[in-house]
Amino acid sequence: MPNSMRYCQTCRFQLDKRGFKRHTLSVLHRKGKLIRAMLERNCITHAEIARRIGLTRERVRQLALQMGFADGRSRHAICRMERRKKEMAEFFLQAQKRGFEVEPLGARSAYINGKLCVQRNACWHDVGNSGYKYTFLSIRQPTVRFDICAWKLPDGRFLILPKKLTGFRQTTFNPEESEHLGTASSSHYYRQHIERWSLLGRPRRSK
Ligand SMILES: [Zn+2]
Repeated sequence: MPNSMRYCQTCRFQLDKRGFKRHTLSVLHRKGKLIRAMLERNCITHAEIARRIGLTRERVRQLALQMGFADGRSRHAICRMERRKKEMAEFFLQAQKRGFEVEPLGARSAYINGKLCVQRNACWHDVGNSGYKYTFLSIRQPTVRFDICAWKLPDGRFLILPKKLTGFRQTTFNPEESEHLGTASSSHYYRQHIERWSLLGRPRRSK
């Protein structure tokens, strides 16, 4: 750094000698840490920071730039992403734990490895007549667009099916080993797809 420049440790940027003196008296310097702390929280807008500190929004925008923060629009996008992550359904949280890169679209849908995934719940369902009754899990095909659907089973596991295996509107299956092979409407066929995380491809990062 040239001799005529000064670096402010608090605000983490450099100024020339004359500017530096004025800077140490400025609102920015006195509230630098506070401004930085607020900028680090992506869900506080520049306008809100400006209001709390007593600066103009434009000034906050300039400071944020100087301090190396993303611009307002990017912060807003990051904020929305963070909010979505917080409310993500169980399947996506688990996918994340397994090292998959999850890009949430909403609480129950997200891109994982470029595949559009949705989560639904499976619930117990009685099939058959009163003489011979089976209990099966009932699943419905999502009405939205998707590549992979994960149904959360009552025991916490997931039935993970690709779109091409979901040619039903509603169907039932038995998640447990059983001697009854089931019927067309109560197939056991899906059991092998329980916890079939490999359908998502390879996790991008190992954890
Ligand atoms: Zn400073």
